[in-house]
Amino acid sequence: AKDRGRGNFQFFTQELNRQAHDRLMLITQLRQAIERQEFVLYYQPLVDIHEGRIVGAEALLRWQHPERGLVAPDQFIPILEETGLMVTVGEWVIDAACRQNAIWQADGVPPISLAVNLSAVQFYRSDILKTVQSALQRHQLDPQWLTLEFTEAVLFEETEPVIRTMHRMKQIGVGLALDDFGTGYSSLSYLQRFPVNRLKIDRSFLRDAEEHDGSADIINSIIRLSQSLGLISVAEGVETSTQLALVETLGCNEVQGYLFSKPIPADEFTRLLKSGLPS
Ligand code: C2E
Ligand code: CA
Ligand code: CA
Ligand code: CA
Repeated sequence: AKDRGRGNFQFFTQELNRQAHDRLMLITQLRQAIERQEFVLYYQPLVDIHEGRIVGAEALLRWQHPERGLVAPDQFIPILEETGLMVTVGEWVIDAACRQNAIWQADGVPPISLAVNLSAVQFYRSDILKTVQSALQRHQLDPQWLTLEFTEAVLFEETEPVIRTMHRMKQIGVGLALDDFGTGYSSLSYLQRFPVNRLKIDRSFLRDAEEHDGSADIINSIIRLSQSLGLISVAEGVETSTQLALVETLGCNEVQGYLFSKPIPADEFTRLLKSGLPS
């Protein structure tokens, strides 16, 4: 029994060594990815339910890995955040999104608001306001066409400075959206302190709405809350026409999800903007 215990322990340390090794490999590869510019943005449309047309897009980060192919953000964003590399990559995301939106505007398609996701580290470890302002200026983009998305996790440390920064962002004229709404700890108490103009209802509620009436009730409450605060409500993860009908009945303003389009590369999104959604 004693020997087996030691065997388990050896297995355990080997496993830990392997995990630490994999992590270091990943960090090295991510540093290279920054140098080699292997990151790309995919775009997913936001559709105004009432008008039935594309009014915005969310820029979503992908890693074009030379061997592994396209890597999804949940595979590498946590490491970028832990190592602080997210500051560099996040600056690239803001710049690339503003550049792309300026290209679309120059192309003469109806202007859209482009949303970019922000990590908490970008508030703590960089001058995020300056990054945003210089990207807007560099690409001659009117601030109203940029939306910054964040979750309430940005408030876990340094609440006051972060809220001050958000008020400055609002003053500049960029849109602010509270992402994954309804999943955090104290969404309601934070909400009145965030100067946001959009609430994005977390997609877990829609996913569960068909089986549990409770989820539909929560979606309904969030939409009512948005309306009473004068905010635009956005339903994330709309995959079926039944889900679309539900949020439409409840008075939701905008929708995003596979029913309309998965996140797609810029050139495909350009075609989508020019042709409009199939009706
Ligand atoms: P998020 O901000 O909540 O983004 C929405 C996610 O839902 C995206 O996953 C999108 O592909 C997915 N989605 C959209 N519609 C549907 C649907 O109908 N069904 C299903 N099942 N999924 C849908 P993605 O692109 O894998 O991104 C995951 C998360 O990674 C994002 O969640 C966001 O938190 C983070 N992320 C992505 N890009 C960035 C970035 O540039 N910066 C930062 N800080 N985070 C990012
Ligand atoms: Ca988002
Ligand atoms: Ca979300
Ligand atoms: Ca999320």
